[in-house]
Amino acid sequence: MDCRSDEELYQLVQESRVHTIEGMVPDYIPALAKADLSSLSVAMAFPDGSCYSAGDIETKSTLQSISKVLALALALLDNGEEYVFQRVGMEPTGDPFNSIIKLETIAPHKPLNPMINAGALAVSSMIKGDSVEERLGRLIQLTELIIGEEGIGYNEEVAQSELETADLNRSMAYYLKQHCVIEEEVDAVIELYTKQCAIEMNCVDLAKVGLLLAMDGKHPATGEMILPPRVASICKTFMVTCGMYNASGEFAIRVGVPAKSGVSGGIMASVPQRCGIGIFGPALDDRGNSVAGWDLMEKMSKKYDLSMF
Ligand code: GLU
Repeated sequence: MDCRSDEELYQLVQESRVHTIEGMVPDYIPALAKADLSSLSVAMAFPDGSCYSAGDIETKSTLQSISKVLALALALLDNGEEYVFQRVGMEPTGDPFNSIIKLETIAPHKPLNPMINAGALAVSSMIKGDSVEERLGRLIQLTELIIGEEGIGYNEEVAQSELETADLNRSMAYYLKQHCVIEEEVDAVIELYTKQCAIEMNCVDLAKVGLLLAMDGKHPATGEMILPPRVASICKTFMVTCGMYNASGEFAIRVGVPAKSGVSGGIMASVPQRCGIGIFGPALDDRGNSVAGWDLMEKMSKKYDLSMF
């Protein structure tokens, strides 16, 4: 699918780009801190195969937390709903994505949802395969099926950089192992999770992932069901309730579409039955969302009447 540059989107990008100076890059993953703070790109992909883009669309970025949606889809395919939700809850936390506190304070010590780090670690540990390599390969394959193209990989430098600084995630994984939420070795789940977060793409591919979820799992070009509608529905529901960190409620009111963000500055949105949106803008606000990406989503929601509420 070619993606045409669009003048109207370009104007919105230019207006939102000014907000990049208000943001910062996350310094706890040193390789992410190298990102160009002023960068901003957007793509909108539609069911009829049309696609419109603006900004620095050649820039590839890692998915970071956006990968949690794909990992959840695969874990649901591998294990079924009942198994997954015996180990991970369905409730927003109101806490930062990497907070550990509710693991201890809320019995039965399972993570409250799959979009926070503790929940995502548990979900990654449910992805089946004989080795980390095979499990990551399966996740990448699913991503390629969704996008409809091969050639997706992960950024080794970013993965390595996070592996060296992932002590907080490691501590959560040990806690989950102690409480039998995860069964495998902590090193294996940390390696898989870190590499999944480093899966890399541009905003056009990200928009295509959003589109497949918007279309309830059906590939718009081939008509093939890549995900069961129920899996797509669960993913979108978590995107509404927990997708934009502890700003998800505010995002639902201001923008009103299922979306997931990541600390690389990505936002993937799925407007049910209408379109998928992919944005990368690495400057983050204090809750971890792309500051210009959020502004752009607000502008797009108003201009194209995207809110589902
Ligand atoms: N790899 C990041 C971490 O675990 C992802 C966080 C995010 O994007 O929210 O901290």
